[in-house]
Amino acid sequence: MSETIKYEEYNDRFDEFFEEVKKNSSYDSEKIKRAYELAREAHKDQRRRSGEPYIMHPVAVAKILFEMGMDNDCIVAALLHDVVEDTKYSLDYIKELFGDDVALLVDGVTKLGQVPLSSREEVQAENIRKMFIAMNQDVKVIIIKLADRLHNMRTLQHMPPYKQRQKSRETLEIYAPIAHRLGIRAFKEEMEDLAIRYLDPVAYKDIENSLSMKKEEGEVFLKTITDELREKLTPLMKNCSITSRVKSVHGIFRKIYQKGKSFEEIYDIYAIRIIVDSMIDCYNALGIVHDMYTPLPGRFKDYISTPKPNMYQSLHTTVLSKQGIPFEIQIRTWDMHRTAEYGIAAHWKYKLGKGGKDNLDKSLQWINRVIENENADDVAELIANIKDDLSIDEIYVFTPKGDVKVLPRGSTVIDFAYAIHSAVGNKMVGAKIDGKIVPLDTAVRTGQIVEVLTSNQQGKGPSRDWLNIVKTSEARSKIRSWFKKEKREENIEQGRSELEHELKRNFIRFEDNNKYDRFLQKIAERQRFTNIDDLFAAIGYGGLKISKIMPGLKDEYNRNWKEIKEAAAPSDTNSILSNESRKSSGGVIVEGIDNCLINMAKCCSPLPGEPIIGFITRGHGVTIHRRDCKNVPKEISLSLEPDRWISSRWDENVRVEARSTLNIYAINRQGLVLDISTAMVNAHIKMHSINAREINDGNSLTTITFAVNGKEHLDSIIKMLGKINGVYLIERSDL
Ligand code: MN
Repeated sequence: MSETIKYEEYNDRFDEFFEEVKKNSSYDSEKIKRAYELAREAHKDQRRRSGEPYIMHPVAVAKILFEMGMDNDCIVAALLHDVVEDTKYSLDYIKELFGDDVALLVDGVTKLGQVPLSSREEVQAENIRKMFIAMNQDVKVIIIKLADRLHNMRTLQHMPPYKQRQKSRETLEIYAPIAHRLGIRAFKEEMEDLAIRYLDPVAYKDIENSLSMKKEEGEVFLKTITDELREKLTPLMKNCSITSRVKSVHGIFRKIYQKGKSFEEIYDIYAIRIIVDSMIDCYNALGIVHDMYTPLPGRFKDYISTPKPNMYQSLHTTVLSKQGIPFEIQIRTWDMHRTAEYGIAAHWKYKLGKGGKDNLDKSLQWINRVIENENADDVAELIANIKDDLSIDEIYVFTPKGDVKVLPRGSTVIDFAYAIHSAVGNKMVGAKIDGKIVPLDTAVRTGQIVEVLTSNQQGKGPSRDWLNIVKTSEARSKIRSWFKKEKREENIEQGRSELEHELKRNFIRFEDNNKYDRFLQKIAERQRFTNIDDLFAAIGYGGLKISKIMPGLKDEYNRNWKEIKEAAAPSDTNSILSNESRKSSGGVIVEGIDNCLINMAKCCSPLPGEPIIGFITRGHGVTIHRRDCKNVPKEISLSLEPDRWISSRWDENVRVEARSTLNIYAINRQGLVLDISTAMVNAHIKMHSINAREINDGNSLTTITFAVNGKEHLDSIIKMLGKINGVYLIERSDL
């Protein structure tokens, strides 16, 4: 293979990178070189948007991973990651040349890249799930994908603006949170900063300016502080490192724009990091720090005894300098530091022993949990799940035995119960916070001791209302699965009636029950259920939202099922009537209501033969509007009070006398009004009023109100009047 490769004259930076690789004996440099050569050959005709040869990109991705300390297979796979997708070389070929492990990684990364992440939640969830399934086989796949995304973000300036925003949003919503969840701080922060730069360039510049204004002052300040600390700490602790940094732009952005703080209110623009040898030293250092500077109340966090879900450990405190400037101090051991910087990737970089392996296993457990949750029928749940899980706004709540549960901010005692165990949640009848009985919708706060009161009584179980109370998707899906399992019959009934109600509201009716069943079967299959009961059950326990399926359902109905108009239906195409006979009142049949008080709406004066709809008034019966009246919402189901609109139609046999008003525009001339009246009289139409006036030079408007017995009748009148000399436009005044 390699003989055929022609080297061109550009510098793709591989050589510098390769020099570094060769220095490290744990890498198989020959294999890396071969991977590079294949990638270079494969991409030789491709260019990046920047105009640079494509090979720049895989080399850059490999370099990012090398710097992170990822292993040989990762580097090789990174070099080859776009080969299968973009070039003629097959996965089998890669497998033959580089072995199964590399091929598996390349395949995983390729699959992740194939379906673009959409802003549509379902598609997004679907893809995240794929991502996690791929990652489950080997978490290295996602680390490669993250490095790939990071490099694409770094080179985003070459993309058109809409792409920049789309990629930035994806990065902020999906990739950065995953990097955070895997504890890879460097990826997370750089991704977030880059994304904000494109999503909110004004704010980004603002923060950059504020930071650079403070730069000099900040540097002096941080030097003073680190010197003071060094003087006190180094004599007492060996291997003590004290560093300082300015917070990331995104970190500041979040505080200013999402939490509404002003730049001055942000305590941790300046952060000091103290790294020591042992956990004891961490707490000793903390004591010394609190002696030297005044700690701000409520700002101390002990993530050593209670690590964050992504395994992060440190002590955090915010103190005031002698000049009154607040700053944050983080204290940790070297081991904790590695995990804080590299997260799951520390496993490779530091070839961590048992502790590293445990951490890796914990991360993989989390991934498995997310994948398992895919079984929750509602895919949107998965997104919420990931976002919940990744939320950094966490609170720490204790069981009476002192076990800690980490929950997202706003979680209630019910969330807490389900966090202990689903059996605890399902048997819950009450809760105590710090010994006092509280309502079930009470939110818990960090530091509280929560006791869950349970009952073993048969027939007890969660309430459907809880679904609206709980904050965590974990609790929500556990409650749903309880209803799913325990209350199937009830769910089917509930789902059936909810769906029927919604169909009715949308004027979806069937003459024939068999046909109705076949329709539902079709809808069920489209939602990947095997039968109608499963569909009803899913709706019933809340796993499937009706609003989600309605658009597709309506579409299906209109396309393939709508011919059932033979029900002697009126011309109202929206309304397919059921075969139950209805008594008419005032010439109008109101669906499901007999002999009610009917009023014709003044705004649109509906005529027999026209599509109509009823509005249930408060205490004045039903008002009938034309379906196309401007006061009737176009999309009933989206209107404010959809339940008050009711399907109605004209009774065919009835002959009612209705009124209609027409505006007749004509060239003004002598005898026009007489001609109009004469025409009406000759047609035996009873006139209620006639009113004519000049509107502007040479034109007149004549408004007539008269009795009419239906739409066809009215149409014939309009046609007749249109023939009168000089008339150029006739409008229904009630349109
Ligand atoms: Mn790529």
